[in-house]
Amino acid sequence: MVVMSRLLRAGPSTSPLISPRIACRLFSSFTSEITIHSPTSLIPNSINNNNSINSSNAKPLILRIEPHGRNVHWVFLGCPGVGKGTYASRLSKLIGVPHIATGDLVREELASSGPLSSKLAEIVNQGKLVSDEIIVDLLSRRLETGEAKGEAGFILDGFPRTVRQAEILEGVIDIDLVINLKLREEALLAKCLGRRICSECGGNYNVACIDIKGDDGSPGLYMAPLLPPPGCASKLITRSDDREEVVKERLRIYNEMTRPVEEFYQKRGKLLQFDLPGGIPESWPKLLQALNLDDQEDGQSAAA
Ligand SMILES: [Zn+2]
Repeated sequence: MVVMSRLLRAGPSTSPLISPRIACRLFSSFTSEITIHSPTSLIPNSINNNNSINSSNAKPLILRIEPHGRNVHWVFLGCPGVGKGTYASRLSKLIGVPHIATGDLVREELASSGPLSSKLAEIVNQGKLVSDEIIVDLLSRRLETGEAKGEAGFILDGFPRTVRQAEILEGVIDIDLVINLKLREEALLAKCLGRRICSECGGNYNVACIDIKGDDGSPGLYMAPLLPPPGCASKLITRSDDREEVVKERLRIYNEMTRPVEEFYQKRGKLLQFDLPGGIPESWPKLLQALNLDDQEDGQSAAA
């Protein structure tokens, strides 16, 4: 992993020390690939009338899931506040692979008062993106720590955010699938401004009730608030970067820098577009369906 870490730091412009294939094998050794779903069944043309999975990919997507998730190298894309963390975390528990959120890595570094923390605080408070170098450094350290503990496979959340980061990642790890979560901008803004955290237990809540009526054939969207239990209600705080001007700046930067990342993966036939039909109760079952994992959850609850 030291080699891979050096590779990651070096970026795509320098000549790699080892081939991407070897780096990939280093990273996911002992796995044998099992194709458990046919490509055509992965992306239904439509799930129901209210929510369709768009796919204009040139190549069909093939979803491969190794027992215990060893072969899962997935990436979650989506605007800030869309709920990447929530869905990535649920999926990671379901298929047994770590959920690695670069936002968490940044926050941990910020809290650590380490060498990068004051530099990071300045960048984050302005709603700016942390540089590729810092993110790649934090991510390499996290992957190394994980591998030392015997982790295999991962779901990345918040990385890659730029085409350059995607190129670095593509050079060392074979990403199987990129899930792009999509939500209308007005809903995104309301959702971000409604976010609250319990200052005592760290619980995440949302006080916004989003109810957008459908018009001209576009489906409506309803997201219920996620209200705190009585014990947390008086201790709610708003994250300093959930202010309207910061949220809008994040969305602007996202559109400018991350949209090309969607195109990057679309060209490689790895992008799954998923329009969120609402909150978790509406979206979770449809996401599992889109990933052909609905039977996996059924199996789990049946076994429980
Ligand atoms: Zn609490």
